[in-house]
Amino acid sequence: MLVERMRPFTSTIFTEISRLAVETGAINLGQGFPDTDGPASLLADAAHNITDGGRNQYPPGPGVLELREAVAAHQKRFYDLDVDPADVLVTAGATEAIASVLLGLCGGGDEVVTFEPYYDSYAASIALSGATRHTVPLRAPDFAFDPDELRAAFTSRTKVVLVNSPHNPTGAVFSREQLTLIGELATEFDAVVVTDEVYEHMAFDGTPHVPMATLPGMAERTLTISSAGKTFSVTGWKVGWVHGPPELVGAARTVKQFLTFHGGAPLQPAVANALALDDAFYDGVITDLTRKRDLLSDGLRAAGFDVFATHGTYFVVTDARPLGFDDGFDLAYRLPELCGVAAVPVSVFASTPEGVEAMRPLVRFAFCKRDEVLTEAVERMGGLRDKA
Ligand SMILES: *Cc1c(COP(=O)(O)O)cnc(C)c1O
Repeated sequence: MLVERMRPFTSTIFTEISRLAVETGAINLGQGFPDTDGPASLLADAAHNITDGGRNQYPPGPGVLELREAVAAHQKRFYDLDVDPADVLVTAGATEAIASVLLGLCGGGDEVVTFEPYYDSYAASIALSGATRHTVPLRAPDFAFDPDELRAAFTSRTKVVLVNSPHNPTGAVFSREQLTLIGELATEFDAVVVTDEVYEHMAFDGTPHVPMATLPGMAERTLTISSAGKTFSVTGWKVGWVHGPPELVGAARTVKQFLTFHGGAPLQPAVANALALDDAFYDGVITDLTRKRDLLSDGLRAAGFDVFATHGTYFVVTDARPLGFDDGFDLAYRLPELCGVAAVPVSVFASTPEGVEAMRPLVRFAFCKRDEVLTEAVERMGGLRDKA
């Protein structure tokens, strides 16, 4: 029954691995959700908005004004970007922003350039739009792209280039030079740049997060997407946003009003307040995640994995071959039973034969968990060496 263009997307790996984790009582480092809730003030604001605040009815289609203003203020504060709140569209998470943008800008015959491996919703949303996906590989150990391969992916039909930095699943953070090259090619081929910046506050070791829209001349062809889920540890809230030039945001708004129209009325003003939290909050996110990254990375190394450096996001990618596991997919399915830890194979974030092959031995672990949970996971994986 399922329409042909959606047949490659019938199940997501997260559902399967999470089910396995529950069945075996494994520590789930597969799907990237934190095991603690976000800032107390955010939670209290949302509760108040529901019980006493009278914020439970339809919000305005583009999102509540407080949140659109807060997004604009946040972009000014962190990146010195001038954003008009009228050009901010609130969405049901970054996921709906991505879908709305692609459905609003792309159709049959158009091409979308993105990087492989990629966040799983990209391929599905591109397929829904009817456009064709062209991917540029990010290869271990540093997961940088080859400039020639990037250029070769662009054609006169390229409508959108979809960039995610800090990058899930690899933990790479695109440099100003890399982003400049992407921007130059987008300009040369007259494509729109869509940036997924949901990990914007999770770049480590002083690595700067550079929004594409801050590069000279790029704001006029860039749609910038982010969300509250990762920054404020509320992945279940699905409050996201996109901003950019009015005609591009307008295309996304037109689609979005027939997807969800709107949602999260009591959550939106709470997120607006959270975006204005002081520097101590944002610094704390980085300090905490840096410690967790090191805890898990060191532990995985001690357990025998090859561990790639994570510069951003809350994921670390490993190569399981030194342990005797050549296939990350196979390992991810066996890991819960072997040692009571769940992770996801990186190959599921790829779809070209070369991409799947390049990612075959790699497994991704999430470190957005309490320190004691990470310590326990590392202990459990200690005996893995003898089990290949
Ligand atoms: C988690 C994630 C999203 C989804 O964000 P939501 O706000 O939960 O929809 C989008 N892109 C990437 C790269 C992610 O990791």
